[in-house]
Amino acid sequence: MNTSFCVALSALILSHAIPLAGQSADVPRVVILGIDGLGTHNVWRDMYKGVPPPEIPNIESLAATGAYSLHAGIDPLNFSGPNWMGMLTGSSSSEHGVESNACTRGAALPTIFEVLHDAFDQRTLAVVHEWDRIACYYEPTSVGLRIKTRDEHDTAQKVIDILADDQVIFVFAHFDRLDAAGHEYGGNSTEYKARMESIDGEIGRILTAIRASPQAESTYVILTSDHGHRPDGGGHSSSEEPTPFIVNGPGVVPGEITAAVRNNQIAPLVAHIFGAVPSPEWSAPLTPFDAIVDRTPAGSTRR
Ligand SMILES: [Zn+2]
Repeated sequence: MNTSFCVALSALILSHAIPLAGQSADVPRVVILGIDGLGTHNVWRDMYKGVPPPEIPNIESLAATGAYSLHAGIDPLNFSGPNWMGMLTGSSSSEHGVESNACTRGAALPTIFEVLHDAFDQRTLAVVHEWDRIACYYEPTSVGLRIKTRDEHDTAQKVIDILADDQVIFVFAHFDRLDAAGHEYGGNSTEYKARMESIDGEIGRILTAIRASPQAESTYVILTSDHGHRPDGGGHSSSEEPTPFIVNGPGVVPGEITAAVRNNQIAPLVAHIFGAVPSPEWSAPLTPFDAIVDRTPAGSTRR
């Protein structure tokens, strides 16, 4: 092999070198914190007659340094299954067909996992969930890490462990025990309040881990919910709406989101953050998040 060919070959190899671990900071990272049963009225409104509301400093700091709405809409079917499926598929229950909490994928619309898997098939997507039904709602072949957890402490630890792998670009975490407290004791009970504060503490641990990670400045955190609770428990009523929607990360215009938003917009929002093409089968619009989360040029990070 002559010398000039070797030099040319070396240059060719170098020009096509696979980025070393940790060098691919141009691909952002997104962590979804899905809190089942978290209604705005349960936490930020006047449901607590004469009783101090839950102290949730970590969620509040996430909102204060990001963009947030406390008036996010939910699916017309205001319970878990239709909403979580809607969030994953950017659609409504009338479209995705999940109209109960049964284990079904309904019309099997493409999920955000499938969209990201198509765009980043060499990177890792993860689901960490307490409610077993979440596993019913996505294509398992598109999600590299699928972990069932038992409570918020377990969920937070698994999320922290997963984020130590820099090949992980997307984690969808589902916290379920607040919903259980709401069903059993009501949305203004001491049990609900204690669980909310416990989950907030675990979210604080996750945020601390993110801030200490090499990807701290390219990580987005999105917090959302499926519905709230009446003071006397779960059920279908307007007091279970609205829910919070928080997005925090580089290029996010901080402040209250005054435009109408809905929880199923997380699918187009996450696709937008990654510069991925949203599924044409999703009906949830990106607007107003295109103006709230600046991702131009696609894939860039801000400091
Ligand atoms: Zn729920």
